[in-house]
Amino acid sequence: MDYYSGYINKLIEQLSRLPGIGAKTAQRLAFHIMSMPAEQATQLASAITEAKDHVRYCKCCQTLTDSELCPICRDPKRNQKQIMVVEHPQDLAAYEKTGRYEGVYHVLHGAISPMLGVGPDDIRLKELMQRLQGDVEEVIIATNSSLEGETTAMYISKLIKPTGIRVTRIASGVPVGGDLENIDEVTLLRALEGRTEL
Ligand code: ZN
Repeated sequence: MDYYSGYINKLIEQLSRLPGIGAKTAQRLAFHIMSMPAEQATQLASAITEAKDHVRYCKCCQTLTDSELCPICRDPKRNQKQIMVVEHPQDLAAYEKTGRYEGVYHVLHGAISPMLGVGPDDIRLKELMQRLQGDVEEVIIATNSSLEGETTAMYISKLIKPTGIRVTRIASGVPVGGDLENIDEVTLLRALEGRTEL
């Protein structure tokens, strides 16, 4: 059954573990890598290991960064009292592209999903609650408008309410089930401006 060399099979197997890469695509990518000049293949491999070795979670907002604190948390011009909670670093990037949000972020790295067995302890919620012991005026919940995103928003708002900190949710200009990263900037801004109290 082994049509290819064991090495290629191993490469195909590794590639097919990536999200959105099926067996066929993994095979196509593997053969593409084989046809690359050796130097290019080495650059690809070292980009992966270097990123894994050097990238870490920001001590404050938990996004992925090269240093202890990410550039946003380090920026003295950002309003540290306003925290926008997002699911993934790419959601943070989507809001940054609007260039209009002046607060800081908190990246959960996921959303609560009882169906998938993801509980509150599996996302970076504890870290958010720790930050709220500081001087915070508003938490803007910008999780996706999927079932998981809404569940997470409700859970967080219940948790924060007793602290007296203002909790808002971005408006539903964001389509139901939509991932923030795929939404245009105008819609994102409208969702932020039209946020409502929770
Ligand atoms: Zn940060």
